Amino acid sequence: MTEILDRCIRYLLDIVFPNRCPFCGKFIPWNVYICEECSSELSMANDFICRKCGKRKCVCELPRQYDMTLASLFYNEKPVRKAIIDFKNTGDENIAGFTADDIAYHMEKENIPAPYAVIPVPMGKKKQRKRGHNQAEILARCIGRRLGIPVINNILFKFDTDDEQHSHGREEREERVKTLFYAGKDISLAGKTVFLCDDVMTTGATLNECAELLKGLGAVSVIAAVCAVTETTTTAEEGN
Ligand SMILES: [Zn+2]
Ligand SMILES: [Zn+2]
Repeated sequence: MTEILDRCIRYLLDIVFPNRCPFCGKFIPWNVYICEECSSELSMANDFICRKCGKRKCVCELPRQYDMTLASLFYNEKPVRKAIIDFKNTGDENIAGFTADDIAYHMEKENIPAPYAVIPVPMGKKKQRKRGHNQAEILARCIGRRLGIPVINNILFKFDTDDEQHSHGREEREERVKTLFYAGKDISLAGKTVFLCDDVMTTGATLNECAELLKGLGAVSVIAAVCAVTETTTTAEEGN
């Protein structure tokens, strides 16, 4: 969808469902993603994190398949946590649009060339049908539209499982994640740099596993792009 068409839709939608700030819930004009107050109060993760591992307290010594991280917000801030949970439940685009703008800003500022395409971390088919959307895919669409690059959502897949990751330790999670995802066979990413996006980065196990699959298809570089990153690598709140 072009940016102009997207703006028309946002304008019309605002008449029926007035636009709200995803962080505090205040009414905001149709053409912004966030209210002025939240915009000045929230810490922007991209200004603080290690560009490689994505953590404020660098964990680059841990093995990692993604080569760079762009993350807009800190998940540990209360309004961010609320906004991410709403994003998962409702699919409201504001936090994704906000993240896409922030990522575009940092790419320009740090001379990071636009990648070939943006690929969302997949959700199990059953789960996506039940929820009606995959929030990682919404973020991918916003980033794709903002940077003018395609979204590829038929390259990574996830098995349906009822078993969520919430209460597992790092090593156990890494093991479990390995059996959750698989890649399509007919696509080659030979020589390409791609974005891999998800709503939250916690241990990075999910992004790691998906990045490994993309490298298996020939990608030379994978840039993780997320709405928010946790301050630690141990809180078990990752997962769809
Ligand atoms: Zn606000
Ligand atoms: Zn690091």
